[in-house]
Amino acid sequence: MQPTILNIAIDVPLNRTFDYLSGGFVAQVGSRVIVSFAGRNLVGVVLQVKHTSDCPVEKLKPVSHVFDDIVFDTPTFKLLKFCADYYHYPLGQALISALPLRLRQLKPAVSRKQFAYFLLPNANKNLIPKRKITLERMFDALQASQILASSDAVLISINWRKAMNELKQLGLVGEKEVLSVKASMPSAAVEPALNTEQQHAISQVLALTHTFKPWLLHGITGSGKTEVYIKILQHILQDAQSQILVLVPEINLTPQLEARFRSRLSQYPLVTLHSNLSENERLQNWLAASTGAAKIVIGTRLSVFTPMPHLKLIVVDEEHDGSYKQQDGQRYHARDVAMVRAKQLNIPIILGSATPSLETWNNATTASSTNKSQYGLLTLKQRAVQNAQLPSIFCIDIAKSPTENGLSPLLIKALRERLNRGEQSLLFLNRRGYAPVLHCNACQWVSSCTRCAAKLVVHLSQKRLKCHHCGLEQRIPLQCPSCGNADIKPIGQATQRLEQTLQTLLPNARIARVDRDSMRSKDALTDMLAQVHAGEVDILVGTQMLAKGHDFPNLTLVGVLDTDSALYSPDFRAAEKLFAQLMQVAGRAGRADKAGEVLIQTAFPQHVLFDALRSQDYVSFANAQLQERTAMQFPPSSFFALLRAEAAEFRVVNQFLTAAGNRARQLNSDVMIYDVIRPQMERLKSMERGQLLLQANTRLALQRLLKIWMPEIRALPMASKVRWSLDIDPLEF
Ligand code: ADP
Ligand code: ZN
Ligand code: ZN
Repeated sequence: MQPTILNIAIDVPLNRTFDYLSGGFVAQVGSRVIVSFAGRNLVGVVLQVKHTSDCPVEKLKPVSHVFDDIVFDTPTFKLLKFCADYYHYPLGQALISALPLRLRQLKPAVSRKQFAYFLLPNANKNLIPKRKITLERMFDALQASQILASSDAVLISINWRKAMNELKQLGLVGEKEVLSVKASMPSAAVEPALNTEQQHAISQVLALTHTFKPWLLHGITGSGKTEVYIKILQHILQDAQSQILVLVPEINLTPQLEARFRSRLSQYPLVTLHSNLSENERLQNWLAASTGAAKIVIGTRLSVFTPMPHLKLIVVDEEHDGSYKQQDGQRYHARDVAMVRAKQLNIPIILGSATPSLETWNNATTASSTNKSQYGLLTLKQRAVQNAQLPSIFCIDIAKSPTENGLSPLLIKALRERLNRGEQSLLFLNRRGYAPVLHCNACQWVSSCTRCAAKLVVHLSQKRLKCHHCGLEQRIPLQCPSCGNADIKPIGQATQRLEQTLQTLLPNARIARVDRDSMRSKDALTDMLAQVHAGEVDILVGTQMLAKGHDFPNLTLVGVLDTDSALYSPDFRAAEKLFAQLMQVAGRAGRADKAGEVLIQTAFPQHVLFDALRSQDYVSFANAQLQERTAMQFPPSSFFALLRAEAAEFRVVNQFLTAAGNRARQLNSDVMIYDVIRPQMERLKSMERGQLLLQANTRLALQRLLKIWMPEIRALPMASKVRWSLDIDPLEF
């Protein structure tokens, strides 16, 4: 009898798969197995069950174990294989890294118990220590609902588990076991009557639900895009089996989105997949999705690979967001992968944004009557809430109204007005720390990182200098390390300094800072947002953490500080990114019935970007940018791949990239090979870096070259002397 042979993918950086004997175990395609590889036990996934092998059968080893979980179904395999091919990443690594950590371990996937929580008799709210807002809110929710499942508790706070444990310790709360995923608690959520634009968008999508159809839902912040998603979901989920995948950039920054989905689609089991979950929660949620038990999956980029046997629609919210692109390992773009997935499954996909990426805008506006993949464009022009006006956007010319400690007199005046009226303001400064650099006025010394081509940022409260790229830290020196001068000063503005300046300037204002330093603890952001909503904050100072998705009805002023460097950046996408970011922060102002105002401090008030922003005219901005890109032959008019390499010495990097470039040129294709250059960040973590750019007119031409070139790169003698990686459709240079 012929032996059963399993073709298996394992997590090793080799561009091939491996044959093992089944060893008497029963395995299927998609089974998770343990194999011994180079003396180690590794988890693998069965790709094929067969009876022949290219290796002599007597040389094959048997698998050590076969688990009874099937981790990938055929469509997910197909997607992962496509990606491994397209991104030229080893299939085994691509497959294994798409699994939750628990399934990458040499253990069976045990289902964990789920609990629900309730207030103990006579539980007294006064036992909660002062200022524990999350605990109080959790208490109120428990009181209102008798019993609270974890899927409901997460509505109150992402970090509900910690809060619940504290309440248990205080003797206020009990828990009991419940059956797996359940629907959220029913709620009395109001359903707004849809406006005409929303109705139109919804009916267009619902007219074509059983075929591949990409849609771009383009609507300014607050125009009711989320409402459109919800209505479409409600409709598609009427078919009892249907599942829907909703991709979001960063779930921890937008707890409101999850809460809205839960309350409006409360009858459907919903799970989330993101890095803020414990590994067990992640596994449970992944299993719920892959068994079909979860009808709605809201997740960040990695969840695009989650098996969902009855997937009927994909929504990619904020499709332009750069965090959809994975920046190491397999450098996939989750929006692009989602597009491929929708096409493979023959289902619709909705990309939503106020400021679509130029790639998407190009796809949605270039007409092609024959192309089945032609994007449909759905536009929402108005803010959805009655009377909610678009904010007025103005530039403050800092040549005429010079800043002192980062703030111009005009902006300070506007802040004072808001304070007097009891309204809230937000100051956007996308740089954390106290000041970007420490400087000696005598010898011009500046604090630099010894490991990176970057400055050390001043963190005054901790009296430390920190590199935001490699983590290097040192004490703030008392005198200049170069000349001994004692008069060394922090130069420039960052959020902590701005907070301090404001405190001196407006001593009565209640000021809060939101950045990665102040929001270190998991609950901090949720608590802070609650304080803002409760009216306990007058001025918010923050980085881009604040730009996303939060809705502050009483916020009427947004001040933007120090974004000029992006106007003249060497990155050809800098303008696109800045426009999107400023539209997003501007969207925080005047969400309810109060008019909002956005003041941008700049030395270049005449810049075309600000023109477009003032008139909030994404369309003409995007079209002008697209024209420029076409003229320069930049994406989306062409397609890029970037070969990156790093080593202790640049000489070695250069040798490798030059050899690789020369090989590519010899392969004589229609792909343009540029010279080796150094990236903006020349050195990172003591590694010297270089890169080689490839450009082609079509994806196909690029892929054709990569297919023959990649094996040659791997075989280059220099390849083992550098760390290298290939980035297809790179976002950063
Ligand atoms: P977006 O996702 O485009 O930012 P949302 O869907 O969050 O917009 O809508 C913004 C606000 O307007 C929300 O508070 C939402 O409840 C409300 N809203 C949405 N559609 C309507 C409507 N048709 N009538 C009244 N309010 C609406
Ligand atoms: Zn000096
Ligand atoms: Zn560094």
